Amino acid sequence: MASITAFDVGYCSHPGCMALKGAGLKNRCFPSRAYLIQTSRGLHLWDTGYSEHFMDAAHGIYRLYPLVTPIHLNAQAPIVLQLKRMGIHAADLRNIVVSHFHADHIAGLLDFPGVRIVCAAEGWQSIQGLKGLSALRRAFLPGLVPLDMPERTTFLHELPQMKLPPNLIPFESARDIDGSGEVYLIELPGHAIGHLGAFVHTESGWTLLASDAAWAPENYTELRGPSELSFLVQDNRSNYYDTLRKMQRLHQNGIEILLTHQQASESNSC
Ligand SMILES: [Zn+2]
Repeated sequence: MASITAFDVGYCSHPGCMALKGAGLKNRCFPSRAYLIQTSRGLHLWDTGYSEHFMDAAHGIYRLYPLVTPIHLNAQAPIVLQLKRMGIHAADLRNIVVSHFHADHIAGLLDFPGVRIVCAAEGWQSIQGLKGLSALRRAFLPGLVPLDMPERTTFLHELPQMKLPPNLIPFESARDIDGSGEVYLIELPGHAIGHLGAFVHTESGWTLLASDAAWAPENYTELRGPSELSFLVQDNRSNYYDTLRKMQRLHQNGIEILLTHQQASESNSC
């Protein structure tokens, strides 16, 4: 069985209604999380959250990004430091999975030299040559991508394809990350090109790491989406809602779903 450890790695603030229709204009804090997955074959890091590299990369025109969504990062919060305090170093990781290339998910990649990166080929292709306003529209900061990433990246389609157990319907097949049968990667399209999720088999059953396929549980439990404005930066509204419907089915089947930016509590305002 695998285990999942969640880490809060900084947060941004913006009106609640951006993430959930009807949630009001009051500013709320949206944590950015990274997850450490331990299987019988080793350790995998799921996304990185923010890091100091984010502010280094947000210069020139890219300063617009933290102006629109102000970023807060405690000096002790970068995931590389949180892992180090647990005695875990870059060399201990088998993979870092990039769920998608939005800056708040990849800002810590530069802190893990040499670690294999797993992502979708479409996601990787979508950021090639992306810069300036086009990059900002996709919440992407080019300076966050390690220069040697092409040499140490494995694409989703290169991993072995497996059939999923029936309780994970409507998902039928997925890619096994390490041969343990404990972590299966799937595509969750709509939010960003090549957006990935992962089914993790833990002692309490299957958990879906859904990253930004939703920002609040009500997105999938009630099919109540985010602000229409948010689709200026999201990839495809129709695919987004298709994915929400699949997540609703999983939820109804008792599958736990973890979202990167889910608020810890309703009172989590700022
Ligand atoms: Zn995102």
